[in-house]
Amino acid sequence: MIYADNAATTRMSEAALHTMVSVIRENYGNPSSLYSIGQRAKETLEEARRSVAEVIGADPREILFTSGGSEADNQAILSAAAIGRKNGKMHIVSSAFEHHAVLHTLEKLEKEGFEITLLDVHENGIVRPEEVEAALRADTCLVTIMYANNEIGTIQPIREIGSICRKHGVLFHTDAVQAVGHIPVHVVDDQVDLLSASAHKFHGPKGVGFLFARKGIRLANLIEGGAQENGKRAGTENVPGIAAMAAALKEAAGRMQETAISLTEKRNKLIRGLSGIPHSALNGDEMRRLPGNVNFCFEGIEGESLLLLLDDKGIEASSGSACTSGSLDPSHVLLAIGRVHDVAHGSLRLSIGEDLTDEDVDEIIRSVTEVVAYLRSFSPIWRDLESGKKQHIL
Ligand SMILES: *Cc1c(COP(=O)(O)O)cnc(C)c1O
Repeated sequence: MIYADNAATTRMSEAALHTMVSVIRENYGNPSSLYSIGQRAKETLEEARRSVAEVIGADPREILFTSGGSEADNQAILSAAAIGRKNGKMHIVSSAFEHHAVLHTLEKLEKEGFEITLLDVHENGIVRPEEVEAALRADTCLVTIMYANNEIGTIQPIREIGSICRKHGVLFHTDAVQAVGHIPVHVVDDQVDLLSASAHKFHGPKGVGFLFARKGIRLANLIEGGAQENGKRAGTENVPGIAAMAAALKEAAGRMQETAISLTEKRNKLIRGLSGIPHSALNGDEMRRLPGNVNFCFEGIEGESLLLLLDDKGIEASSGSACTSGSLDPSHVLLAIGRVHDVAHGSLRLSIGEDLTDEDVDEIIRSVTEVVAYLRSFSPIWRDLESGKKQHIL
């Protein structure tokens, strides 16, 4: 089996797994309890906070543990919106290809009277900093732009956007779920105010993540109850998950550079190989993309059929984000980079991990090439394209 869907989720690392099991077994106290085993859990929690903070250049007091990336996105955006509302600023700038955890939160705010500007991401899938600056208004309370896109892997000019926001005194949030643990992220150098991350995207467990919120930013309460997480997120802390997340992140950060080099090599080989398929196109900028992301469109086929046939051959991939697979709508990300519906339907995302071998790379290229040709052999759309009844786009 070749697992090539690491953008959907990753396998837990041995370090994370070991940490999780040992905390569950031996360190099961409630961090709010005053006796020793509770205090030991509290220490584990704070040690994890220090460890996570260090990786992204934050102060431990600026880390809020959450149930994952979605909650961190919701928390960041709703908090900034609450601050904005108080100051009479109800305009938010974002991009058309954000994750649904961001887009749906913005839609909710729009119904409450906020104005949302969604910036174009152009054909290369990259937001232009000068367009961020041009979109800012006197009543802008937040800019939220993802660090790296989860479908096409394009890396955004976060530092430039951060510096523009800082200059204009506007809060800047970035959904860094696909970036943290994969490429260097530093909250001070990048000048971000709020940043979301999720453990299961960097070989930690599911259901745990964190929000970085720069000192002085008042966070909203999404969950009422006890005084955990500075009173900003009630509920007994997920100590095993949090400790495992810290272990996974430390490990990922420690070997980030060598992993990135090896993945980039395999990624480029996959891109070269799949480019050999006629009437295909890479989605998103070729260079400014995550080391492990490959995303293609093939004319004349359906992404779903491609995935099922690849699965038969033992290759697990995706056609977009895990959230849109299962729905028949084409990916909003591919539409945002200007792919027409027909073409967007024939997409394939391969998000590779460290365990992928050179043989796996060859196997993927061979299988995708074979399956695309097979599907085209009985596709009515392909027949129309080949007979000239319809114009090729790619
Ligand atoms: C996976 C993902 C999320 C959601 O994270 P969860 O921990 O699954 O809630 C948010 N944003 C991006 C970019 C993602 O890839």
